[in-house]
Amino acid sequence: MSVIAANLQAVHQRIAAAAQQAGRQPRDIALLAVSKTVSPDRIRAAFEAGQPAFGENYVQEGVDKVAALADLRSRLQWHFIGPLQSNKTRLVAEHFDWVHAIDRLKIAERLSAQRPAGMAPLQVCIQVNISGEASKSGVAPSEVPPLARAVAALPRLRLRGLMAIPEPEDDPAAQRRPFAAMRALLGALREDGLDVDTLSMGMSGDMEAAIAEGATLVRIGTAIFGARA
Ligand SMILES: *Cc1c(COP(=O)(O)O)cnc(C)c1O
Repeated sequence: MSVIAANLQAVHQRIAAAAQQAGRQPRDIALLAVSKTVSPDRIRAAFEAGQPAFGENYVQEGVDKVAALADLRSRLQWHFIGPLQSNKTRLVAEHFDWVHAIDRLKIAERLSAQRPAGMAPLQVCIQVNISGEASKSGVAPSEVPPLARAVAALPRLRLRGLMAIPEPEDDPAAQRRPFAAMRALLGALREDGLDVDTLSMGMSGDMEAAIAEGATLVRIGTAIFGARA
């Protein structure tokens, strides 16, 4: 078995163990393979090992990989997970299936306007600055409900839920706190009548804590592809 296939198997085992611990079904937790800096050949190897969904952080790098793997396009899901500037929205609207880091209405409006008519609606999440860090992107928790209502009303987007990158913590109990706050925020949107189902949270170092608090999609890079250069 290749290293990537073995790593994928180990990550699926971690997801299954964390799900079981939380009384959840492993199938309710999607695995997004974060492939920033990873070559198209290694992404292809991950696909051949059974992994269909990949996350990219940089627009040009991502678009280049979508093109390099065009033969697999109908069988791959491409997620844009990095911060997005308004002058780059068109490329993302034309090439990706999901965007995780919506942090202002202007970006969402541009993506909706630029989404090609022949493609399915772009699936989007709002990024929440859940640890309240001054340097991190994402909206404050109090800004989530009005932004979510506005994004949900855009015609070519489908609001799926919320995404966060909490401040790194080693202690598992400390890791869970921001994820619990995310779960409560998503619950409040649902009580508001929004049809949202996605909590995009958890990375290589904290996926167990995220799954314990309801993550439905974990974004994993290092544990699949190894340390980045
Ligand atoms: C790089 C990255 C990840 C993956 O992080 P790992 O620690 O390598 O698993 C997840 N989400 C985002 C937004 C990232 O930029």
